[in-house]
Amino acid sequence: MAVYTLPELDYDYSALEPHISADIMQLHHSKHHQAYVTGANTALEQLAAARDTGNFATVSKLEKDLAFNLAGHINHSVFWKNMSPDGGGEPTGTLNDALSEYFAGFANFQKQFSEVALSIQGSGWSVLAWDTLGARLGVYQLYDQQNNLPAAQIPLLQLDMWEHAFYLQYRNVKADYVKAWWNVVNWTDVAARFERARTQTAGLI
Ligand code: MN
Repeated sequence: MAVYTLPELDYDYSALEPHISADIMQLHHSKHHQAYVTGANTALEQLAAARDTGNFATVSKLEKDLAFNLAGHINHSVFWKNMSPDGGGEPTGTLNDALSEYFAGFANFQKQFSEVALSIQGSGWSVLAWDTLGARLGVYQLYDQQNNLPAAQIPLLQLDMWEHAFYLQYRNVKADYVKAWWNVVNWTDVAARFERARTQTAGLI
């Protein structure tokens, strides 16, 4: 029995056009995300086999495989929900207040988040997360799927900056991809994640 499964999208592959093409969405979800799901399940199975045989010779590789693939599964699961054909604009209410408090206004938050995305050397993500220790918002530059992000950060908004996320449509012009992506950000989803993170993680760390 597979532990992890590929989640369905809440919208059609073409729903985010013209900002993200149906071709990108179809490949990204059905092939790339599926590969992380399969990879995470395989790593768990191989770790179970290592326990069964008592042979832990490859445990370091398996732990790397698990971290990479499970992180890929988590990142994409958040990313799909962070987008909507009815997205864009600016958040309201408590989330808007918090972004203003921690980033000196929504425009400055958007600028920092975009600059983090555009300055990644290689593959990675820009991430807005709730720091459960400090009880505050932070923006992080996540490398690959799992590096450069402290533990116990609850992701609220993630932007995939791997080439598979934009290259078919935007080629090397990352800035146009990032600019277009803001038009599909589902602030309702981000606000709901913020509310859960803010109210349900006190004392966790
Ligand atoms: Mn991706």
